[in-house]
Amino acid sequence: MTHFTPKTDKALWIKILLGMALGVGLGLVLSPSAGAFVNEDTALILGEWIALPGIIFLGLLKMVVIPLVICSIIIGVTDSGSMEFLKSMGVKLIPYFVITSFIAITIGVTLAQSINPAQYIDNSFIEEVTTATDAPYEIFDQLTIPQRIENMLPTNFTEASLEKNMLQIVIFAFFVGIIMLNLPKKTTKPFADLCEFGQSATMKVIEWAMILAPYAVFGLICNITIQIGIDTLTGVGAYMGSVILGLLSMMVVYLLIVSIISKRNIFEFLRGIRNAQILAFSTSSSAATMPFTLKAAEENLKIDEKISRFTIPLGATINMDGTALYQAAAALFLCSLFGVDLNGVETFLLMITIVGASIGTPATPGVGIIVLATILAGIGVPPEGIGIILGVDRILDMCRTTLNVTGDLVATTVMERFHK
Ligand code: ASP
Repeated sequence: MTHFTPKTDKALWIKILLGMALGVGLGLVLSPSAGAFVNEDTALILGEWIALPGIIFLGLLKMVVIPLVICSIIIGVTDSGSMEFLKSMGVKLIPYFVITSFIAITIGVTLAQSINPAQYIDNSFIEEVTTATDAPYEIFDQLTIPQRIENMLPTNFTEASLEKNMLQIVIFAFFVGIIMLNLPKKTTKPFADLCEFGQSATMKVIEWAMILAPYAVFGLICNITIQIGIDTLTGVGAYMGSVILGLLSMMVVYLLIVSIISKRNIFEFLRGIRNAQILAFSTSSSAATMPFTLKAAEENLKIDEKISRFTIPLGATINMDGTALYQAAAALFLCSLFGVDLNGVETFLLMITIVGASIGTPATPGVGIIVLATILAGIGVPPEGIGIILGVDRILDMCRTTLNVTGDLVATTVMERFHK
């Protein structure tokens, strides 16, 4: 079956890059810390207005993310055609996701330990963004594994969607897809058609939202630059640098996988996925980028729809190597800053926790840091620690989402190679 894919303006990525550059420029001009033209209050109000197209843009994306994910997963599972296909795909895809997450986390841990960005942080900067706390340091007092498994079960679908519990939603949609595969086509056809409509309709909304993308990126970046200011950027510069270096290193690992395992030309691969990467960067949401990730896979990388319609919706929601790497690097950075000493076993437990956490992180803007806050609470980092990295989170979110989406496309080329 041929599915709907959204259209985009060919020059969209250039417009987005231009929006970004202009946004940073105007933001620096208006930023109060740059000793600028307008006073702080006026700059903040102006920033909010300039960001309005971006807020509408993100609102449109958030509006359709849950139905898009549900319909896409159901269609992906039912289009696979048989339980055999699902099983043979699943036994390769899930271990692949876990292994690449581990590689990403190892890169994050290694860089955070060797660069140790905490040593570059000024004490006065910490005092400014956080208030000292004597929180007792408890190590790993979190849920037991059976409790965690229980929490993954979508026992109440309404609650899962209200709480945007993406993992429960994915499991639920997967389950519905499997039920449909096991029932006669005649019975499932009306619901399959409804899902097809849901997927096309949500993709249409995303297609419309993309018209706003360059203005949205301009406004959002300008507003962030005004709010962050030079002081924060330089204050946590080493931390940001180590996360970005980690993401770039993982990108190199991906290109090696594409070349050695998928046996593809990396330049053609990069050209084919460029649009999806730019959209991931501007939306900070793997789920909202999904229509364009599918388009890149099917139209540019010429991957069979049967494979891409399964791996990409699933990957967009559970395969987040960028998020995992960032959570590992951020957790170790804050541990070192607050003097929380993790031994080897504890670091390993942290790595395992992060594999699970990145799988459960919803594919929407800015949630990686919320999940990180829960992990930090479990290892005894004071909650105020989040304040230190919150200011620059949006920028890192854009970068890690780009890697997340690239990871889904890499996984798709690998699965294609082994499914011929
Ligand atoms: N924004 C990321 C994504 O959608 C998730 C995160 O916040 O790390 O892929």
